[in-house]
Amino acid sequence: MKIGHHTHPRKNIINDIRWIGENGFDFVDLFLEPESDAAHIDTAKISDALGRFGLSAVGHTAWYLPIGSEMRELRENAVDILKRYVLICAELKCTLMTVHANWPSGLFKAEEGVNFQTESFQTLCPFAADNGVTIIYESIATPKDNKENIRKILDLNPLLDFHADIGHLNLSGRNPIEYLTAFKDRLRHVHLHDNDGLRDLHLPMGTGIIDWDALIKELKSFYDSTITLEIFSNDKDYVLLSKRKLREKWDNSGSVRSSQ
Ligand SMILES: [Zn+2]
Repeated sequence: MKIGHHTHPRKNIINDIRWIGENGFDFVDLFLEPESDAAHIDTAKISDALGRFGLSAVGHTAWYLPIGSEMRELRENAVDILKRYVLICAELKCTLMTVHANWPSGLFKAEEGVNFQTESFQTLCPFAADNGVTIIYESIATPKDNKENIRKILDLNPLLDFHADIGHLNLSGRNPIEYLTAFKDRLRHVHLHDNDGLRDLHLPMGTGIIDWDALIKELKSFYDSTITLEIFSNDKDYVLLSKRKLREKWDNSGSVRSSQ
């Protein structure tokens, strides 16, 4: 299992990579958002910073890109923007790139939202695959982000894989362990943070209501890949404390890997 941390979407990406490297993380979750918009990303500098610390990277795009918009033109624009990020990920040797769920307003049925997102993925995913990048689907926290709809989207888009954001999966009455189990066949990346079950707080591990011992036991039974500590705090000691706790809990969890 590899532990990573994300860059801040509004801060200097190179400084953030340096902090992540100096503090012994295994990889960087590159938040490719406004301050690092596709036209202004210096891939040479980022590659150099990653190389200096022996870090690998996964790509992450803005959660508000309207891939499921009611308006075709907005969806098409969102896909065009995402294609530019795919090329950046390819250049940086990031083989995974996160795209978030996006749903139309209440005037539209969930089924229509599934179809709008599918239209976007059917253009984006083959383009990404041609460039050596797999798109992973991070569910957000609306009632439409339920198991049934996520399964429909994954079934309709065989080139798309699943990104489990454990904090998001603890909202809207959902149980994150159930979702990890349900989508383990397509799970490629995890975001880890805690909350009170009501608000998307991005708290350090153990400061909300998630049963981490039970969750890690289950996750470790079929997963051994990247976990990003997506903890929002200006005081980074909380991120480092979560890193130590995750490693301890993971190493001490008695679960035996399944044959899957
Ligand atoms: Zn996340």
